[in-house]
Amino acid sequence: MDLSHLEHTSAEGRLARTKIVATIGPASENCVGELIDAGMRTARINFSHGLPDEHRRRVDNIRAVALERGVGIGILADIQGPKLRLGTFAGGKRELKVNEKLVLVEGDGESKEGQALLNFPGFSSAICEGHKVFLADGQCELKVEKVVGGEATARVIRGGWIGDRKGVHLPDTELAIRLPTPKDVADIALAREMEVDMIGVSFVGTAADLRAVRKMAPQPLIVAKIERSAALVNLAEILEETDGIMVARGDLGVEAPLEKLPLIQKDLIDQALMAGKFTITATEMLESMVSAARPTRAEVADVSNAVLDGTDAVMLSAETAVGAYPVRAVLAMQEIALAMEDSARYARATRVAFRHAEPSFSNGTALAAVQAAKALEIKRIICFTETGTTARQVSRFRPKAEVIALTPHRRTFQAMSVMGHVRPVLFERRDNLETMLTDGSRVLVDRGICSLGEQVVMVAGVPPGIARTTNVMKLHHIGEVSSLY
Ligand code: ATP
Ligand code: MG
Ligand code: MG
Repeated sequence: MDLSHLEHTSAEGRLARTKIVATIGPASENCVGELIDAGMRTARINFSHGLPDEHRRRVDNIRAVALERGVGIGILADIQGPKLRLGTFAGGKRELKVNEKLVLVEGDGESKEGQALLNFPGFSSAICEGHKVFLADGQCELKVEKVVGGEATARVIRGGWIGDRKGVHLPDTELAIRLPTPKDVADIALAREMEVDMIGVSFVGTAADLRAVRKMAPQPLIVAKIERSAALVNLAEILEETDGIMVARGDLGVEAPLEKLPLIQKDLIDQALMAGKFTITATEMLESMVSAARPTRAEVADVSNAVLDGTDAVMLSAETAVGAYPVRAVLAMQEIALAMEDSARYARATRVAFRHAEPSFSNGTALAAVQAAKALEIKRIICFTETGTTARQVSRFRPKAEVIALTPHRRTFQAMSVMGHVRPVLFERRDNLETMLTDGSRVLVDRGICSLGEQVVMVAGVPPGIARTTNVMKLHHIGEVSSLY
């Protein structure tokens, strides 16, 4: 077995149970190693920005650095979906003043003075006088005054800064949104070719949207980005189909009233936990760190609250993609998450109970493992997992014990990088329970994860090698000679 592929721990210090997703962009592609050392476990590539060759270069680099460090890093390819975006501006940005007029024109490229290009074909035939226009995730608000010859003239109601390729929302306009777009199809093919671990699907409305993506790329985990009202309405079927969700607060905060976002976030995390799916909480978590060396108090509170809500992962977007302090932003998240997780309040937080809708042996075993660990104050639950499902079933109870997930598959090892409370370890498959326990124990001691004689809870499936048959929980002393038969 090649030990260089294993997650090492000794040099890393203690990592938070909540995972950190960081977007890799121009500001961070040359410091991926530092981001990993600071605690990033999933790297997000936003396919909305940059060209295929840049994505390839970034993915290759992340894989190389992760291998060198021996850490399991997941790669999340975030697919743009039918997002309306502005074109570019001379100097990258432009200020809009109240009462100013702006002409919206279909097209791509650099906008002229007094004009803004919009990438959505046919928007001008659907937009009407009186319709609202939100620019840059709602920073600026305009109202359409007239539409003539494919051009919509709008007046600025709320001013502010807009910039290159920022998002546009037309809440009153009925656009023919179809998923996936031709760009999505090409990007999904590229993501598949690069063997990414997760695909983020933007603007999901129904479970059928996700099935279409899964058909094109059956391997990677699917992350449904919840950012449309339709997704809130159809949440149950979406949760049924997806592997995880992203609370995509950027676009969601334009579709839904801003003041409702915190409650929507809590509901989404609760529902996902109930369904046994993971959650990534995203957008503006440490936004001021795009240009400041430390976060604001409000941002610290935001990250803390997401951790307390029970999110699996917290995400950085512009902070690491284009910000001035990418490594510091990851470190800040790490510290904030650790502080919350160490608190009595976190330990007291109400967590999901047994999932009666899914009365399987796996769920029962996971519950038993968590309860035994709690009663005996055991610090580590060791689970053997093929697909990561067992680890997820244990982790959804958010146990105080750390979940050490041993898997023979590199893909599962990398995909678990987004799962809260789970530390993935590569471990070659053994063909019976006894060697799993003895060899597994040895690896954990050798790697400094467990100490000899330590009490642990082991969770496994017999016979080994078959997915979804978790049916054994064993209380185990590390190093004990286990003669099971
Ligand atoms: P999404 O709706 O998928 O979140 P976004 O445009 O909001 O798309 P984010 O990844 O959230 O993009 O990042 C926030 C901002 O950071 C972007 O609006 C963009 O200005 C900048 N940014 C992100 N990634 C890149 C990149 N790879 N290259 C250049 N700029 C980027
Ligand atoms: Mg965003
Ligand atoms: Mg979005």
